Amino acid sequence: MSQNLIELQHDVLLFDLDGVVYVGPHAVPGAVAAIAAASARGIRCCFVTNNASRTPEEVAQHLRDLGVDATAQDVVTSSQAGAGLVAERVDSGEVLAVGGRGVTEALRERGFDPVSAFDSGTVAVMQGYGADVGWRDLAEATYAIRAGLPWIATNLDMTFPTPRGLAPGNGALVGAVAAAVGRRPDAVAGKPEPALLLEAIRRTGALRPLMIGDRLDTDIAAGGRLGIETLLVMTGVCDDQQLLAAQGDEIPTFACIDLSCIESGTPLPAYEPGTWHSTREGR
Ligand SMILES: [Mg+2]
Repeated sequence: MSQNLIELQHDVLLFDLDGVVYVGPHAVPGAVAAIAAASARGIRCCFVTNNASRTPEEVAQHLRDLGVDATAQDVVTSSQAGAGLVAERVDSGEVLAVGGRGVTEALRERGFDPVSAFDSGTVAVMQGYGADVGWRDLAEATYAIRAGLPWIATNLDMTFPTPRGLAPGNGALVGAVAAAVGRRPDAVAGKPEPALLLEAIRRTGALRPLMIGDRLDTDIAAGGRLGIETLLVMTGVCDDQQLLAAQGDEIPTFACIDLSCIESGTPLPAYEPGTWHSTREGR
């Protein structure tokens, strides 16, 4: 078997999910085969998601349903990285959990006691997306933050895609609390902040990871800020004009049409700023 550049240069692939591995419930064409090919060559595949609402096992089950051989250990969520940021600030105790099961389980995994109402025993606030988050939850968070507790957000994505169009993301709900407390969260876990990728790198022991994503301002920027190499694929939200306009940390190391470039046995196409033509590169 011929060795390609990925095999020589990268020991762990960090995959964003939406727009890279799947779009909504459906696999991106070629993605499952590409991940299987990388795994077969001994390259560790890890899945990093800003979506805080689902548990790692729920994400892994979704991946297995699509044909990707993934376990919960292969999935790092912004809730898990967020719980790590809470643990940097407080040792133990009750944490006001705003969000879904992904948020509460991540806090429990770190030894915290997630609660839904603020009282004198609460030591911190973690806010992530959950479909059932309502005014009462945001009010509890506001009371706790105004009382001086540390406030961690899983991510600041303003929107996320649903079958009926874009809906408010966690960043929009964090913005509502921020307006009420007059300040921003103390820390944010999700891309483009470094905590999520750092958690994935720590867990996998990666020496030379490659971050693969479809968004310049989250996936590629997160990798760029950490100084790790990045691969942009064009199967999600980024179009040719956005790539050509990329600046600074948002300029990817490599760019491909889709994930087939990681199984082709040829070197990854380096992205030369301003030279992208989707009809030429990436296949
Ligand atoms: Mg994405």
